[in-house]
Amino acid sequence: MSEAMHNCAIAAVYIKPNGDASNRALFYLYKLLLNQQNRGQLSSGVTTFNPSRMQVLDTYKDLGTVNEVFKTSDRTQSLDLFKRYAGNKGIGHVRYATSGSEDRSLAQPFERHHGRKWKWFSFCWNGNLANYTELRQHLTENADYHIVYNTDTEILMHYISRELRNSIRPNLVKAFSRLAQKLDGCFNIAFINAFGEMIILRDPYGFRPIVYGWKDDMFLAASESNALINCGVTEYKHLPPGHLIYINNGNVRVVKYAESPKKAHCMFEWVYFANVSSVLDDQSVYITRTNLGKELARQETEKIDDGYVIVPVPDTAKAAGDSMAYELKVPSAEGLIRNRFVGRTFIEGTGREDRVQSKYTALKEIMHGKKVILVDDSIVRGSTTKQLVNYVKKVGGAKEVHVRISCPPIRGPCFYGIDMSTVSELLIPKYEKGPKKGYVSKEIIKQISKDLGADSLEYQPISGLVRSIGKPAKDLCMACITGEYPTPWGKKLYQKAWENYRKGIKERTYAC
Ligand code: SF4
Repeated sequence: MSEAMHNCAIAAVYIKPNGDASNRALFYLYKLLLNQQNRGQLSSGVTTFNPSRMQVLDTYKDLGTVNEVFKTSDRTQSLDLFKRYAGNKGIGHVRYATSGSEDRSLAQPFERHHGRKWKWFSFCWNGNLANYTELRQHLTENADYHIVYNTDTEILMHYISRELRNSIRPNLVKAFSRLAQKLDGCFNIAFINAFGEMIILRDPYGFRPIVYGWKDDMFLAASESNALINCGVTEYKHLPPGHLIYINNGNVRVVKYAESPKKAHCMFEWVYFANVSSVLDDQSVYITRTNLGKELARQETEKIDDGYVIVPVPDTAKAAGDSMAYELKVPSAEGLIRNRFVGRTFIEGTGREDRVQSKYTALKEIMHGKKVILVDDSIVRGSTTKQLVNYVKKVGGAKEVHVRISCPPIRGPCFYGIDMSTVSELLIPKYEKGPKKGYVSKEIIKQISKDLGADSLEYQPISGLVRSIGKPAKDLCMACITGEYPTPWGKKLYQKAWENYRKGIKERTYAC
């Protein structure tokens, strides 16, 4: 999908002290982050632990992709960095801003320096706190806090600090268990303190994935399994919701720290966000996307003949497009080629109309005079789809464009870490004019198709999505398509989001 909305990724490495190799945590953190670049390109960073260093914990972070931040195009600078931040433990992060501004000070990990070793810590996380306003208000009104940044990362840092504030060294598992009771939303956290104790935690609903595994004497954890596999981990496990990994004194333990009221795995991880080679909670992303394509084929209404060609929008719709084509016995061809070397900043700097052209090259050789079935994974705002349809017709020379979307219509914002937090930025509410449940009417779909300039438009039904993921619907978060939010604050924010929409307020939906 080209209206890119990513979230973040976390990584953690612990190497058992064992000769020279034990100081190579940063090298593996770098690899884990590089393999999760799909989840955020705004900033990257790490904190490593090394008791022989004056800065026992030391954090390095900056704006940019992982390779930019670690200066890999300059061997000397890069080696210096790897030397300076060498250690046997560490945490890492890539960020896409879902909350707060895009400046360097919000890059993660956030390190909080303190003279007492259990109060000196660093953490990074993947998620969004739905009860951000409540938490912030509590700090400012009851505890005289001054909040500097407009982000829930700062709020989370203060809440972690408060759990560690006593004059005796705390039990970290209990501290995070207490902390979790105060939070509503999505929060996968990687934490390390100046004793070298580490916590890797998955929230009680399990919105986002966390996997972990061993490679010889090294323990690795990451948001996505492809990162572990590419670091040489052959067997990995999925951390269950409400569980954390506690690393201390050479021991690695998985502990249940909170009850899970329900599982709410984000369906969008399979549809779009996660790397196609990853496996999330035992379900392959690739297989799910091919299933989505099969489901689209099952409900296809066009009378297919030789004049059709399927063109998947690169890269996330490729698996769905190919499998749909296989089922319908239509060729699937790369009618749109992604311009891989155009930087994100350049694409965003261009006008809306030019963005599609900056990102893709349309191949006339594939599409000219054809009835193109354009397969994409989702429509959020609609502007990119409209440009794509126009581009495929105008530049690609397609005779007709039939848009097929492997995700059901997105009707509501996300308060759990995905960058779509207002009703006003979504396409469907502009037609439905109020919170609705069930299927989007045929008349609305027809109207949208017309407004996009397409010859027809079909979405995946919710039942097809659930079958494709292969998990019970009750274990999935599908709130942005059903309006049924799994957490108490998600429900409140949904009401507020619609109020804001009616009042013409376009800011992120936080205040309740
Ligand atoms: S609201 Fe949508 S995008 Fe957000 S966590 Fe739920 S399914 Fe995922």
